[in-house]
Amino acid sequence: MPKSEPEPEPEPEPEREPDRLPGQRAAQLAVVDPATGEAFDEAPDLQPDLLDTVVDRSRRAWRSWRGDPAARTAALRAAAGAVEAAGDDLARLLTREQGKPLAESYAEVARTAARLRYFADLAPKTRRIADGRPVHSEIRWRSLGPVAAIVPWNFPLQLAAAKFAPALAAGNTVVLKPSPFTPLATRLLGSVLAAVLPEDVLTVVTGREPLGARLASHPGIRHVTFTGSVPTGRAVAEAAAASLARVTLELGGNDAAVLLDDVEVDRIADRLFWSAFRNCGQVCMAVKRVYAPARLHAQVVEALAERARTVVVGPGLDPDTRLGPVNNAPQLARVEQLTQRALADGARVAAGGHRLSGPGYFFAPTILTHVPPDSQVVTEEQFGPVLPVLPYRNLDEALDAANGTGFGLGGSVWGSDPDRAEAVAGRLECGTAWINHHAELSLGQPFAGVKDSGVGVAGGPWGLYGNLRPFVVHRPGEEAWS
Ligand code: NAD
Repeated sequence: MPKSEPEPEPEPEPEREPDRLPGQRAAQLAVVDPATGEAFDEAPDLQPDLLDTVVDRSRRAWRSWRGDPAARTAALRAAAGAVEAAGDDLARLLTREQGKPLAESYAEVARTAARLRYFADLAPKTRRIADGRPVHSEIRWRSLGPVAAIVPWNFPLQLAAAKFAPALAAGNTVVLKPSPFTPLATRLLGSVLAAVLPEDVLTVVTGREPLGARLASHPGIRHVTFTGSVPTGRAVAEAAAASLARVTLELGGNDAAVLLDDVEVDRIADRLFWSAFRNCGQVCMAVKRVYAPARLHAQVVEALAERARTVVVGPGLDPDTRLGPVNNAPQLARVEQLTQRALADGARVAAGGHRLSGPGYFFAPTILTHVPPDSQVVTEEQFGPVLPVLPYRNLDEALDAANGTGFGLGGSVWGSDPDRAEAVAGRLECGTAWINHHAELSLGQPFAGVKDSGVGVAGGPWGLYGNLRPFVVHRPGEEAWS
């Protein structure tokens, strides 16, 4: 008999998926395919209490990630390649849970990779200030710490990358929370990126509320970058106030397209239609109201209604589909309710106006006329495939109406003389104004809404600096000692 029992083998550390924690409840969040209305998969419903562990790990990972810019550049470039390599799987899953046509999912995956590549090569600039005094001051830039990125369901991958790419490039770590309606493609993205990023640099957490609220108020989070609706944005700002974390809010929009009297309707109709209906109208900066000169109003309505009646609506995986379903049941109910309210207010239907029969969350692409200007479908964000077209007699009135809501994300002016259109666009109160197109962005531009549409600036170098803090070193010049 041995004198003493052998030491027991130490218990192996539990294997951990990048976005699953020891002790996490089993998968509980049902994910619905909006083309069928049926649940087809599940995602973990993280208990908010586990955020302490997540944020703590994120903070530890930050200590080494922040110190090596060259390693970050290499890792983010590799991340872009990894996203592209996983493009087929990401795009199919995105269409399945979000509903958009497969071609649009591929485009979203490409934009996700492009954001990673753009920010991989962007670095903050150290600057010296010479103001004539015998003092040298140097402005350097430092990262903030763990960043919470909270995103909606309309562009789950590309909006996530718009947040985590600049945050990671700046040397922060990120805890990313997708919408409970679209957690799957983001989870897949998290595991694709886990292969090329150091552990815990990017953590994906999925679950129902109050997960987002608890993440936004977590004391270990130093920047909350949020994209979503105005009411939730306000709640996020309040939650982040508890720890005085920096807040960037990219919120809703109610963009107006103002058509000038020299517009060539046939020439712009396709582009105008898709500016409103891409992604089934679920785009923050979609055209959500059209103002047409009274003389051209009927022609504009007919051009848009003809396209609404003939566009192929169907499941996103069907190769002929140009317009998919609305993403989720509450959003479909809202779109239906706003349409019915407009009809009760006196609006008339030029195309659509109703749900489509059969399974799934399909709503017929809808063009509304005779809509009173104070109807909710004009004053609020419909975020779906419904477009009111309003006549105007006087351009000043049209611009007052365009500027007359609480939103200020984007706007556009359409006409045959681009210089005149640009002069008129200068009178729009919004963050981005487009001429003869809408909702186009370049990676290097700032993106910011005014009024209720946002706080802070994303995009381009502004997005990078939004994830950094200045650190200033002052010292007297040599002459001060002589
Ligand atoms: P939402 O505000 O309901 O949800 C956005 C995210 O916040 C989701 O992940 C949600 O789970 C989470 N959330 C919900 N309650 C929360 C809370 N109390 N605290 C923290 N997080 C919380 O928005 P949505 O319905 O998912 O998306 C549609 C909205 O997003 C529209 O208003 C649209 O205009 C806006 N949006 C804006 C932009 C932009 O860049 N400005 C881009 C896309 C979408």
